[in-house]
Amino acid sequence: GTPLAILGAIGRAARQGSIIKGGIYLEALGHLDTVFLDKTGTLTYGMPLVTEINAAPGISEQAILKTAASAESGSEHPLGRAIVRAAERRDISFSHPDYFEYRIGRGVLSLIRGEQTVVGNRTLLTELGIDLPQRTAATPGTEVLVAQGGRYLGAILVTDQLRDSSAPAVKALTDMGIKVVLLTGDAKTVAEAVADRLGIIQAHSELLPEQKTAFIAQQVSKGRTVAMLGDGINDAPALSEATVGVAMGAGTDVARESADVVLIGNDLMKFVETVRIARNCRRIIF
Ligand code: ADP
Ligand code: MG
Repeated sequence: GTPLAILGAIGRAARQGSIIKGGIYLEALGHLDTVFLDKTGTLTYGMPLVTEINAAPGISEQAILKTAASAESGSEHPLGRAIVRAAERRDISFSHPDYFEYRIGRGVLSLIRGEQTVVGNRTLLTELGIDLPQRTAATPGTEVLVAQGGRYLGAILVTDQLRDSSAPAVKALTDMGIKVVLLTGDAKTVAEAVADRLGIIQAHSELLPEQKTAFIAQQVSKGRTVAMLGDGINDAPALSEATVGVAMGAGTDVARESADVVLIGNDLMKFVETVRIARNCRRIIF
């Protein structure tokens, strides 16, 4: 059976909002080397706002938002939802597209009144052969590019707030001697801005979900004990690959099911507290 000290520690962690799905994960957290953190929805609230619209010559901001909201109307991605909310807030009406598909880690491809409509990042639009200007945004944030019929219409800047618990959690983990690494599908500029504000030294950007997973598998194969914190459908494989996968309580069902630890209340300091509990427990029995 499971030693009483472990059951006690799992109970203590649970009472402060961290659900641990087994003693082996608690043991692993007691000698953690590295924590990998997803950005959107994990370090940030994942409820981003549209903060800027930069239109191509002859195109109105309204038209860009209407087109983008239509393409994203079935989207569950935080960026897509931000665009839909912005259109709704401005009373811009939009219809569902005739067809749409996700390009994971890139954006949405859709058909609106017979015209190919693309909403996503530079990689996606470049792959489709659409000519793009340099980044136009004046402030940091994720640039979502919009094109229709092969023509660039404009860029929507979407900005996400850091969780209050992100900076103290990164500092506490670093002070505990744990390496903190940011893994994100977002652009380099956004990843670096977030890493700078949080004091994260190692940040990897523009990663596809399978690249996040490969990163973690590589560390695990070197014998490292690694935790991965994430929230999205995309993060599920990486959570499974890590020694300890940790899902945000507000994350997707898939993320919570793939995880070994679930953080109720989405407070990253609860993760730090759990690592402390695991270390104390280790001192007693392992
Ligand atoms: P993260 O790792 O930060 O959680 P994702 O892997 O979900 O990010 O997405 C990576 C990038 O792909 C986003 O920063 C964005 O540029 C683009 N992208 C993904 N989904 C969408 C979408 N629905 N609409 C527009 N862009 C998207
Ligand atoms: Mg995410």
